[in-house]
Amino acid sequence: MSAELPSAPVSSSAVVIAVDGPVAAGKGTLARRLAALYGYAYLDTGALYRAVGAKVLREGGDPGNPVAAAAAAAGLTDADLKAPELRSEPVGLAASKVAAIPAVRAALLDYQRRYAATPPGGQPGAVLDGRDIGTVVCPEAAVKLFITARDEVRATRRHKELIDKGENPTYDQVLADLRRRDAQDQARETAPLKPAGDAHLLDTSDLDIEAAVQAAQDIVAAVLQP
Ligand code: C5P
Repeated sequence: MSAELPSAPVSSSAVVIAVDGPVAAGKGTLARRLAALYGYAYLDTGALYRAVGAKVLREGGDPGNPVAAAAAAAGLTDADLKAPELRSEPVGLAASKVAAIPAVRAALLDYQRRYAATPPGGQPGAVLDGRDIGTVVCPEAAVKLFITARDEVRATRRHKELIDKGENPTYDQVLADLRRRDAQDQARETAPLKPAGDAHLLDTSDLDIEAAVQAAQDIVAAVLQP
């Protein structure tokens, strides 16, 4: 298996903020808030992998099968990105399986890079959240944040989110799934989950949302207007 990815980064003047981190560290909320604050576009790159995983499951395939997963990634449509089951736990685990397949990552790479280089609506910048934005998708991003939190804190947040949505998992199941998914994301050969060398680490374990947004904003401000 090759760790190489095919295309080169797309150059542009758009300001890119990369927000990476493990499951339920708070990166989606932070990325959305930063995008709103600066008037930038926002891309949830996890939704792309979720859409591929959901599509394979819907078609009765195995998300770990490279042929099925690569075909789903190559044929991804807008409707796939709006599938109602996208945020469920089984789809999260399927996403993590398809995400380990190099052909799937390669199929989604150009879309992410183009989004960052030419944000929709002519916005002057883009915030992308995911696992490999600072390391692979946008290694030239102006600001790189790596968001973490203790496993138990992340499991508590994710558990509450699922209960609020009407799902019924136990806390222990959520903690086990989260650890399994992080382990898969960290161990894969292509674009593993890890902070870029020049990423700013932000641990949100003991911060509420407003404090976390403020901390992220302080980092971005210090980097963009030193
Ligand atoms: O962020 P989210 O939990 O929705 O992502 C679902 C899965 O998609 C992750 O567990 C990871 O395996 C994969 N992913 C990835 N690279 C990204 C974003 C998500 O591998 N940039």
